[in-house]
Amino acid sequence: MVDYQLERKAVRQLTIRVDEHGVHVKAPLFMSMKRIEDFINQKEAWIVKKQALFGAMKRLVISDGAPLEYMGQIYTIQIHYLERGRTKVVLDGDVAHIWSVERERDKLRLQVIAWYRKEARRVFTERLQICHQKLAALNIPNPELHIRLMKTRFGVCNPGRAKVTLNLALILHRQILLDYVIVHELLHFIYADHSKNYYDLFSQWMPNWKMYRKELQDSHYQYKSYLE
Ligand SMILES: [Zn+2]
Repeated sequence: MVDYQLERKAVRQLTIRVDEHGVHVKAPLFMSMKRIEDFINQKEAWIVKKQALFGAMKRLVISDGAPLEYMGQIYTIQIHYLERGRTKVVLDGDVAHIWSVERERDKLRLQVIAWYRKEARRVFTERLQICHQKLAALNIPNPELHIRLMKTRFGVCNPGRAKVTLNLALILHRQILLDYVIVHELLHFIYADHSKNYYDLFSQWMPNWKMYRKELQDSHYQYKSYLE
């Protein structure tokens, strides 16, 4: 049986939410315990899966020998202390060399996150250009790129302002998944919705988009707090 916290509320339906603190059940005021427990039992497989995902949440930790994830690859961190100069991150083979004067781990971590932002700016700009080129026949305006760490979305498109916002955390995934999100957003310049026309167009330009969406949705969960 699942361990859960029950809250009675003036709601019409029973809802279950799983987060890092546990399983939260919200039930209508007069629903019987039997019905509540039956419902939870029915959802057990889903709850266990969600809990496993929470256990697997990753966070960037700056320490010698710890992993650093970048564009679908895992590097091993090696810290080198400098007497002076700016923090530098160099990926070489499967090692992430971090050069810095900063002795304090939390501050060093923020500097490495700043490096991720710089890298994202470089990589996302390049991929946006390449994807935009590939879709040249569609005459999509050249959008302005914004990068933000977002909780629930991979990208946001604002066709009216010719603006595309990408989630900074996409820098953790392999490049094709980044391309998938970029193409998804660019095609919103043609169809703003997720209609059949939109998806037909998507399949035409990126036949494997469903596979990429699944990979991204399945793997992204663990990275939600990685760069926070
Ligand atoms: Zn969309």
